Amino acid sequence: MGKSQNTLFAGLMANADTTTQFATIPPVTVDEPTRYYSYGDVLDVSARFANQLVALGVQPGDRVAVQVPKSIEALMLYLGTVRAGGVFLPLNPAYTKAEIEYFLKDATPKVFICDSKDGDAYRDLAQSSGFALETMGVWENPDKDAGSLLISGLEASTHFDDVARAPDDLAAILYTSGTTGRSKGAMLSHDNLLSNSQVLSDLWQFSARDTLLHALPIFHTHGLFVATNVALLSGASIILLPGFNNDAVIEHMPASTCMMGVPTFYTRLLNDDRFTAELTDHMRLFVSGSAPLLAETHVEFEARTGKRILERYGMTETNMNTSNPYDGERRAGTVGFPLPGTDLRVADPDTGDTVAQGDIGVLEVKGPNVFSGYWQMPEKTKEEFREDGFFITGDLGRIDDDGYVHIVGRSKDLIISGGFNIYPKEVELLLDEQEGVLESAVIGVPHPDFGEAVVGVLIPQSRKLNVDQIAADIKEEIARFKQPKSLQVLDELPRNTMGKVQKNLLRDQFKDLFKG
Ligand code: AMP
Repeated sequence: MGKSQNTLFAGLMANADTTTQFATIPPVTVDEPTRYYSYGDVLDVSARFANQLVALGVQPGDRVAVQVPKSIEALMLYLGTVRAGGVFLPLNPAYTKAEIEYFLKDATPKVFICDSKDGDAYRDLAQSSGFALETMGVWENPDKDAGSLLISGLEASTHFDDVARAPDDLAAILYTSGTTGRSKGAMLSHDNLLSNSQVLSDLWQFSARDTLLHALPIFHTHGLFVATNVALLSGASIILLPGFNNDAVIEHMPASTCMMGVPTFYTRLLNDDRFTAELTDHMRLFVSGSAPLLAETHVEFEARTGKRILERYGMTETNMNTSNPYDGERRAGTVGFPLPGTDLRVADPDTGDTVAQGDIGVLEVKGPNVFSGYWQMPEKTKEEFREDGFFITGDLGRIDDDGYVHIVGRSKDLIISGGFNIYPKEVELLLDEQEGVLESAVIGVPHPDFGEAVVGVLIPQSRKLNVDQIAADIKEEIARFKQPKSLQVLDELPRNTMGKVQKNLLRDQFKDLFKG
């Protein structure tokens, strides 16, 4: 391809060979064909989208908001937006219209592309807010409307001169999940995204020989940037699944060499007898992130498959920060070492001073991976950066003597009971070891005497739990102030689509436990 001055797109395409395959898109229903996308198709289709966006008025720096189901076209729309100099703003298809309206008002996009079925719902808002409204479905499903963007795209040229974009120009805004307060738009530059995918591709030894099994959502940093960008940059190919389910993943694993997933992918696969050492024998790499992988899952995975999951740590605002080594020891319960080029320190949350080696504090990071700030929130941005440019992640952790980073929880999940700090993870690890406990979550709830009280929420393996016995057994193990004042049993923990336990929902459910 010609020389492009568009930092991200040129970087991602550096190893692309137009004749090789980029994606296999298996059919979702039996009457659909399998579709294939070569790197040449990637160039052609993303050029069509770029041409369409420019025709719709997109200028460099304009936001292009997108709420569509996962599809290869949606990925091409991301690339088309970048090529057109726009700022890609993907939105979770699960968001309601009221939620979407907030994002549209906040981000003031030039264009909003929604699912074909939702087009009518946004016509009035498009009129009053002045954004262009387009719809998008999927080609291969004749029952669904392909939508205005795909249909008119057939007329668009496959030639596009990429709009020049410098490393610091914005490529995307991703809104944080916002479990507390207003959701914030993290502004990510061309270089934030490109540099991180270069580091990961090298570290994880990706090449054109790889086929990545892609079952993650693409409105989130993990599936959109880590998985897709790393594959593109390496000239690798992907098998694009619309989402995760055991049947599809097991069916397509034989044709894959690696997979990236959230911990729930791995726990679900381990619950399936078809997930065996034979099935995974040829697999080069399993990556986990976005939520903590239980050490137990790591161990069970190795016992089943003989492979060790590679756990890494990142967030929307920073892309990836740390990773366990590819060749060295992948240590269960840790997120490995800071990535090359990323500085990571553990600081006192109040003073910002670096804590003593091995002590717990808030993780702070600085590097080319770290975002430039929150969209339209200069004050909030200022609060979350130290004077010397380190971003305060809000994750609590420590670095052990061998340099591995351990995460002990989010600072907002820290429990302060009777003036003592309790790190939920420590108590959760202990509860998880108790007989009959599958997993647990530890939260703080209001308490008239202690301020907050520790509550342990237990998920049983199968049979009934002996809660009194568990309470008695852990007495010897941890200090009194850390022991849960109440143990509650639920069928399952509330999790969001990225597998994160929604502790805010648990805190809400048990907030009155110690009331008067
Ligand atoms: P998000 O911005 O949705 O990607 O969420 C980022 C947050 O997910 C981080 O701040 C961590 O709290 C959590 N997280 C991501 N990866 C890991 C991991 N490997 N272990 C523990 N927590 C993680």
